[in-house]
Amino acid sequence: MINNKINRASLNHTYYSASDSDFSTCTIVLYQEAEQLLEWIADHSIAAPLAYLKQQIDKKNKCIHCRLSDTDTTDLIIISIDATPQQVNKLTIAAGLETADIAASDFLIVGELVDAAQDAKVRYLCKHIAAALKIWAHDGKLYKADKSDQSRSVDQINYKGNLKPQHDLTAGVKLGTSMVKVMDLVNAPSNRKTPREMAAWIKQSSEEHGYKLTIMEMEELISKGFHALIAVNRGSEIGAKCLIAEYRPSGASTHVVLVGKGVTFDTGGISIKGANNMHYMKSDMGGAAAVMGTIDLAASLKLSVNITMIVPTTANSVDGLSINPGDIIDSYSGKKIEVINTDAEGRLILADALAYAVEKYPSDHLVDLATLTGSVVRALGTETSGFMTHNDDLARSIKRAGEATGERTWRLPLWKEYHSYMESDLADISNLASKPMAGAITAAKFLEFFVDEHPSWVHLDIAATAFGKMSGYKDYAATAYGVDLLCTWLQTLEND
Ligand SMILES: [Zn+2]
Repeated sequence: MINNKINRASLNHTYYSASDSDFSTCTIVLYQEAEQLLEWIADHSIAAPLAYLKQQIDKKNKCIHCRLSDTDTTDLIIISIDATPQQVNKLTIAAGLETADIAASDFLIVGELVDAAQDAKVRYLCKHIAAALKIWAHDGKLYKADKSDQSRSVDQINYKGNLKPQHDLTAGVKLGTSMVKVMDLVNAPSNRKTPREMAAWIKQSSEEHGYKLTIMEMEELISKGFHALIAVNRGSEIGAKCLIAEYRPSGASTHVVLVGKGVTFDTGGISIKGANNMHYMKSDMGGAAAVMGTIDLAASLKLSVNITMIVPTTANSVDGLSINPGDIIDSYSGKKIEVINTDAEGRLILADALAYAVEKYPSDHLVDLATLTGSVVRALGTETSGFMTHNDDLARSIKRAGEATGERTWRLPLWKEYHSYMESDLADISNLASKPMAGAITAAKFLEFFVDEHPSWVHLDIAATAFGKMSGYKDYAATAYGVDLLCTWLQTLEND
């Protein structure tokens, strides 16, 4: 029996109430043809509002939520397999679950309406639904005394249909698990997140997944010559660290080095930032969190790629000992840097980490992620990260991984002419462009100066994507951007 009764009084206008349903779980239906979906609903005596569904399908809404009953909170989520990863992915599904105020803890994914030729799309959706459920169920309100409204759980995810996406459901749960750990780390404020907490996070992951971890403390950083990292750390009470994780699965041949900017709080230093929104600067370790989450997930998924993760981490604080604008500092590479602006500190700590990576860890690909410039936000908005590389094959594969995960990337040029913007009269390079333009590109040109012409280096500026509007949060919050992107890219290297 189809019941089109609509109860607008007690529910949000996009939800519909009906009765006579035997569904006690949240049912997620994947469909290929709208006709088939409507027939399936009729066959199963589901009291879904057909007129509403038809209208939503006509409007090309790829993910539709119906509440079947306002008393037992039984829900139906209907997802078109024609959806693009941008429309339907772990974050948009999690946002949908949040908005719909789902109460179920058992989830049934019905894939009967999809034919076998669509295997890849079903597998994609199963992975993202499973990840979304972990994100939705996670209590991100870390520091509230009252946890009473955070009792969500995902007890069961079942799949009904001819395809066998169990592997993808498991991978999705692992993706969601790594993402919420990254979100918690990025959302943590600076008084609860110093280089010590960064180290504790990766230590816990390395012990859980059994990969090697080396933590370089100040004494070792000084003796090894991480001068730029130490210079940025001068104003901070808590010493800098360099976190080095090595994941070496047996049989893997490709080696990827991932470097992430781990500035736990960025005041700008003596070139101090304005007070407006300075609290967002707790997210200035978003690049570090992304590569930490990537090695955590890669090890959890047992990806067959050798990964070395290097995270230089420190706060950028204001103090009598802080470096001053105009100071000339040394770096690990031996090149001297004129610090025109102490707020361009991320590139300083990355300069040391990248030079160290190139010297000590020869790799097939060298990737760095950083919340590096406001310029990338102005250029591209919050829809995508910007990336720069000289390697066209690498550029294509990074772009494809972005399109496949809903974590878009967009290439910016790295032409040699931009290098002149970074020339210094007194030192080997300046940390800020002489012209107030092309800031994301000139930041990359600075980093390029320290990667010794690595043939497959890519820099991703994730300043616009690591932290932003997230459902369930009033203020900006962590997105865990980069974890799915990088692991999806790493999977393409497994058989290289
Ligand atoms: Zn800064």
